[in-house]
Amino acid sequence: MTVRAAEEPGRAGGAPGEPGGPDWGREAAYGPALLGPAERAELTRRAGPVARRLAEAGAAMVALCWVDNAGLTRVKAVPLGRFEHAAGWGIGMSPVFDVFVVDDSITTSAHIGGPGGDLRLVPDLDRVTPLAAQPGWAFAPVDRYTQDGRRYAGCQRAFARRMTDRAREAGLRVQAAFEVEWAVGTEEDGQFAPACVGPAYGMTRVIEMSDYAREVCEAIERQGVVVEQFHPEYAAGQMELSVAPNDPVGAADDSVLVRQTIRAVTQRHGLLASFAPAVVAGGVGNGGHVHLSLWRDGENLLAGGPGRYGMTADGEAFAGGVLDALPALTAIGSPSVASYLRLVPSHWAGAYQCWGRENREAALRLVTGSAGERGQRANLEVKCFDLAANPYLVAGSLLAAGLAGIEAGARLPGEIVGDPVALAPEDLAACGARRLPESLAESVSLLSGSETLREAMGEPMFEAFLAVRRAEIELFAGASAEEIVARTRWRW
Ligand code: GLU
Ligand code: MG
Repeated sequence: MTVRAAEEPGRAGGAPGEPGGPDWGREAAYGPALLGPAERAELTRRAGPVARRLAEAGAAMVALCWVDNAGLTRVKAVPLGRFEHAAGWGIGMSPVFDVFVVDDSITTSAHIGGPGGDLRLVPDLDRVTPLAAQPGWAFAPVDRYTQDGRRYAGCQRAFARRMTDRAREAGLRVQAAFEVEWAVGTEEDGQFAPACVGPAYGMTRVIEMSDYAREVCEAIERQGVVVEQFHPEYAAGQMELSVAPNDPVGAADDSVLVRQTIRAVTQRHGLLASFAPAVVAGGVGNGGHVHLSLWRDGENLLAGGPGRYGMTADGEAFAGGVLDALPALTAIGSPSVASYLRLVPSHWAGAYQCWGRENREAALRLVTGSAGERGQRANLEVKCFDLAANPYLVAGSLLAAGLAGIEAGARLPGEIVGDPVALAPEDLAACGARRLPESLAESVSLLSGSETLREAMGEPMFEAFLAVRRAEIELFAGASAEEIVARTRWRW
């Protein structure tokens, strides 16, 4: 169950206005641009009924969460009695967390860093959710404000919202969903020990993990997120689930909530969940594939058009913009040194900058859906990203790249069919297909040269994000794959 400020109907996945279509009325609500006395009073007033519903649901504590530039969910919690005040005034938190590194060391950047200053974490009242696997606790994503009530330039959730608004100003609505892959097990003598032995995609594994898997899905659904499917994945102990699409900020909130829930259920079973890009050196890793669909006046721009596989000109231009920017975007979507242990060819991780219809080795996969429901289902899947990424930065930067593609009238090059590794260099070149960056250093240098992403994120956030990446490159300099995996396996 999700406790919302206003009761809303259930979410669905097809075209707007049709059964199963996106319901734009559910788009994530955001805090006001400026928190003045009137806004604070209104938020405090709206928090009253939310607090009462939380109390009825048995919640005593509310975890106010945001995701930092290392991709880690950080938190400050308030007892329920303090929630209404927190809704209007926020909870204090240092901006230094924007330069926290994956091992909790702290770096600095051109605009952000150091012990000074304070921010206010303001919970989104439309997204407060009692946690099914943490009795007595509720979750709320936050927007971050300065003490004088302005939006904070480093707020990743505000960035995703800004880009969603930019799309809307261009007459476009976007739906997104983050897939979650994770490995369940324990650690023995420094090695990952899977919780089950059954085969990839095997029913044996579901039988071994029967109560666990059901409880994960039930807990997520009790929190108002629709689980579309669950399956045992390829690697040992690996699972996957996907959830219904949502507006970009809502989808990023879903991703945070879903992982928190998986972790909580896993620990109640005496096990650990790893969302790390690489769980075992040399193995198949955990992806964090992102699905995007693009709509104008209720029409899906990836279906029903005159272009390849029914793409409209703007649908293709959006895809072209994302594809062009993928090498730089890799620093945002595959942001860890460990990400590059996963992002290798022939692992279904999408290690090549190319696109293909239903091609699981293409970084950009066009999912057309089945004949008969393409108008509802056609979407783009970005496969090269993982769950070390901050989902708000992923959502915002994908929108920025796609919108830049529309502005430039971008076209997609030729399609790649099959595994790019198996193709001759001239066939790859004919489709503009290239290996994506093979290290974080490579992707960071490409990102730092991207004016589109610098402008979209804004200088302070962009520089802080790059500083964290550079600190992580330094942190793992000279480390073997085994060491990188051992030091990051349980971090995200
Ligand atoms: N585990 C793969 C990855 O690292 C993805 C497998 C799949 O296509 O679902 O992205
Ligand atoms: Mg998968």
